[in-house]
Amino acid sequence: MTTKTLFEKIRDREIPATIVYEDDEFIAFKDIKPAAKVHVLIVPKKPYPTLEAVEMNDQMQLRLLQLARRLAKELGVSDNYKLHLNVGDKVQAVPHLHLHLLGGFDKETPTAL
Ligand code: AMP
Repeated sequence: MTTKTLFEKIRDREIPATIVYEDDEFIAFKDIKPAAKVHVLIVPKKPYPTLEAVEMNDQMQLRLLQLARRLAKELGVSDNYKLHLNVGDKVQAVPHLHLHLLGGFDKETPTAL
């Protein structure tokens, strides 16, 4: 029996989260420790451990980016957001592919990237 990732447990409603979007392929929910006014994680339901586990030609990658743009619009930050994707266990806390959508920055607040 394989152990579920944290994000699979959220997907399966075993751990609570504020879900902002869901379809057959993806789930998106608010980050528990937001680093911006808007901070959601967009997660493929299939638990790829990292981006590098995805086949190079897998169109899921395109759909992930399209969904990020759609959610940025729906969350009112389409002119003010960043996408952040950590790859590998040295920089990735949760070994289940996820795209950070961070938005709603102030001009006055400097950001690291
Ligand atoms: P990363 O370092 O890219 O793997 O980011 C993992 C993210 O998951 C961090 O920004 C955490 O704040 C977030 N996180 C951890 N646990 C939860 C949770 N239970 N619900 C929502 N977000 C979480």
